[in-house]
Amino acid sequence: MRTSHNLLNTVKEIPADAVVISHQLMLRAGLIRKLAAGLYTWLPLGLRVLRKVEKITREEMEKVGGLEVLMPALQPAELWQETGRWEKYGPELARLKDRHDRDFCLGPTHEEIITDLARNELKSYKQLPIIYYQIQTKFRDEIRPRFGVMRSREFIMKDAYSFHLDQASLQDTYDAMHEAYTTIFNRFGLKFRAVVADSGSIGGAISHEFHVLADSGEDAIAFSSASTYAANIEKAEALMPTGERPSAIHALTLIDTPQQHSIEELSAFLSIAPKQCLKTLIVKGEQDGSVVALLLRGDHELNTIKAEKIAGVASPLTFANDGEVMRACQCKPGSIGPVGLAITIIADRSVLLMSDFVCGANQDGQHYQNVNWGRDLPVPLHTEDLRTVVTGDPSPDGQGSLTIARGIEVGHIFQLGSKYSGAMKAGIVNEAGKYQTMLMGCYGIGVSRVVAAAIEQNHDERGIIWPTALAPFQVALCPMNMHKSDRLKDSAEQLYHTLLAAGIEVLFDDRKVRAGFMFADMELIGIPHCIIMGDRGLDANTVEYKARTSKEAIDIPLTDIVRFLQ
Ligand code: ATP
Ligand code: MG
Ligand code: MG
Ligand code: MG
Repeated sequence: MRTSHNLLNTVKEIPADAVVISHQLMLRAGLIRKLAAGLYTWLPLGLRVLRKVEKITREEMEKVGGLEVLMPALQPAELWQETGRWEKYGPELARLKDRHDRDFCLGPTHEEIITDLARNELKSYKQLPIIYYQIQTKFRDEIRPRFGVMRSREFIMKDAYSFHLDQASLQDTYDAMHEAYTTIFNRFGLKFRAVVADSGSIGGAISHEFHVLADSGEDAIAFSSASTYAANIEKAEALMPTGERPSAIHALTLIDTPQQHSIEELSAFLSIAPKQCLKTLIVKGEQDGSVVALLLRGDHELNTIKAEKIAGVASPLTFANDGEVMRACQCKPGSIGPVGLAITIIADRSVLLMSDFVCGANQDGQHYQNVNWGRDLPVPLHTEDLRTVVTGDPSPDGQGSLTIARGIEVGHIFQLGSKYSGAMKAGIVNEAGKYQTMLMGCYGIGVSRVVAAAIEQNHDERGIIWPTALAPFQVALCPMNMHKSDRLKDSAEQLYHTLLAAGIEVLFDDRKVRAGFMFADMELIGIPHCIIMGDRGLDANTVEYKARTSKEAIDIPLTDIVRFLQ
């Protein structure tokens, strides 16, 4: 593909409402554009990445014997009434009426629809086990859509559903799916953990979540230091004996509502706060390890921000650096926008924690950078430190102590048992000729969320660094000042066609732009390999090669470059 075909939609500005890095980079690199809250258009470059996620997912679903189907997004209320979820699901379920005044919803998930299909299509035990799957648009009216496609209202999910005669068969398929998920996330090239999970509104007894590890993750996951125990935080907490809730886990719940808490609780919270909170947490370190915090006082009055010392707060913290604070604050004069977490110290030294800290610029158009904060931070942002904290709290399985890390939930598998098949009378005739309710499993992957999660885990100050399997193109071909040299133009065209013929996905930057501009774009959009061609190199029959992950370019003979890339 050629850049002159208007493929690129890169922009320099960081959009004001984009708080996490993946959201910023997806907008800047021109992968997505916002239509309305939680609704995004995928642009051509972004769609290529989304399709890669889908392709790998589809291939692994086929390997475990999944049969692909495609179910409607619009679902009749009657099916949801059969399972009782029409009443129970709450406001995340987008309900609507058709012109005949009949109730429908936009599917947030498809258990009812697939169970209806199964009870009509499956008659005999001989047809079991069976796995159906689809890659399809879901709609959830999230209370706070945010972080771009990470938590959007309309998103793409791969959802699979299995039907079984007995528990042993369900367990077999569940295990095979667990393994397939491991293969899928490995093929994506992402660092992830599978953890024991609660099954939430989907229901069922046994469930696991798959989390991409990233500081900005909305979820906390807990590992034992001495065993294979790994659970999401709710599950770890639920398993703790009453009265022994680990302090760190308890602290995590503080974010939900404005409440007063002690300095010690704040300290526990800070130690595991997600990075997007820290950006506006306004905390900075001192040489002696104590903490100075810039605190929001009064009524979100931006002009009254003051520095104040909190004695006694231990400092297992990372710190927002200047650039990040400023970026987070790029709003129009006088405007404010939600960013993260606010803290107010009240006179008696207790702490008020509020979610949705507002930040912005004052009426004069002064951004936060004009307030003297974050200027002389002695400590740069150490994301590594935040990744895991040893809490000292005992692991619920009694072995070792808990370590907490942040994760992004990208997959979730459930053993549903007879929850839906029982309520909807989905049964088959068994070997003994008797009617029997089927057992079910269901298995989700947040296809569009994976794209954002991959960026959260793989980026630098210059842009996205795609894992090879997800990159929209493998190679960027960048001839410098090609429009001034016919020889260079011919060689570049020739190499472009050779690369295509070798089956390499190549993006040919044939725009009439400065070399620096070209490289910045290719780095921003995260192409793993870059070939730089110039007249001087051609004199020596070489091209330059630069990996996205390295700062240095190396010379490669023109005749070897295709072999080098393969
Ligand atoms: P979360 O806890 O993040 O709200 P969930 O537990 O409600 O997710 P599931 O019902 O388990 O989600 O759905 C399967 C997968 O769909 C999730 O693991 C996640 O990757 C993805 N997903 C869920 N909600 C969203 C959303 N609003 N935007 C993008 N992806 C989502
Ligand atoms: Mg949810
Ligand atoms: Mg969840
Ligand atoms: Mg889930």
